Amino acid sequence: MLFAAIEAGGTKFVCAIGNEKGEVLEKESYPTTTPEETMAKVIEFFKDKEFVAMGVGSFGPIDPDKKSQTYGSITSTPKVGWSNYNIIKELNKHFNVPKAFDTDVNGAALGELTWGTAKGLQSCLYITVGTGIGAGAVVENNLVHGLLHPEMGHIFVRRHKEDTYEGKCPFHKDCLEGLAAGPAIEARWGVKGHEIPSDHQGWDFEAYYLAQALVNYILILSPQKIIMGGGVMQQKHIFPKIREYVVELLNGYVQKNEILKNIDEYIVYPELGQSAGTCGAIALAMKALQ
Ligand code: ADP
Ligand code: ZN
Repeated sequence: MLFAAIEAGGTKFVCAIGNEKGEVLEKESYPTTTPEETMAKVIEFFKDKEFVAMGVGSFGPIDPDKKSQTYGSITSTPKVGWSNYNIIKELNKHFNVPKAFDTDVNGAALGELTWGTAKGLQSCLYITVGTGIGAGAVVENNLVHGLLHPEMGHIFVRRHKEDTYEGKCPFHKDCLEGLAAGPAIEARWGVKGHEIPSDHQGWDFEAYYLAQALVNYILILSPQKIIMGGGVMQQKHIFPKIREYVVELLNGYVQKNEILKNIDEYIVYPELGQSAGTCGAIALAMKALQ
């Protein structure tokens, strides 16, 4: 069975055709410009293709509530032209198949649970650390939405004693995203993350902030696995530091072997790697059929 997958990002839109094994058979990406221009390319890509359902994993915030008037739209974004733009409404004009619309990170969490490193589990959390920080969660086989959907990148963390950087979030300044997303790293040190050597103090700050976030997620959502992706997580050397801080901060409170003995397999890089988002959108499409 074939599925249409759209990974709608702030920088690029990835369109793909995939199957129920999570295999990507065809794929194309387009830079995110205006909604009209970008969506025209998306529609062109899928126009003559065969598929039974469509999944969209989108940058946000979005409205994923099927009962809402604005279901299918991106709600508020600084990205010019995209505020209140309804992706699903536009797709409905061209494709008469069941559709699923969710956050990119909820999609990625579902993809990892279906085919990746969290296969066989019922709960997992996927966090991306890139231009922004966002996390999605599957809890007992359900994607978490609620009032809006989780916005786990904007939680508050304790400051590292030596960090004097004010923070970059336009809403909260020194929330997690304001302190630890790629642009914050660049603003704090004056160079891009990939240019900072692995023994630089900046990576200790980074691990400290991300670990605090994970501790909060562990205590609130109780994920059976935590998957960390996005550009900044390509700095694989920070994984051991993050794991160490998580153990230290939890301080023995959560008595589970996943944390006390096998943390290397508990906090991991996505098994689907750079395809986590695309596979996530395929997984969402499959869910649309259920
Ligand atoms: P996006 O979040 O826009 O989808 P990415 O996940 O690639 O895209 O994140 C881009 C951010 O990650 C940028 O701020 C960039 O500086 C940072 N980044 C990308 N690659 C690396 C790397 N290898 N090491 C550290 N930071 C990186
Ligand atoms: Zn914030």
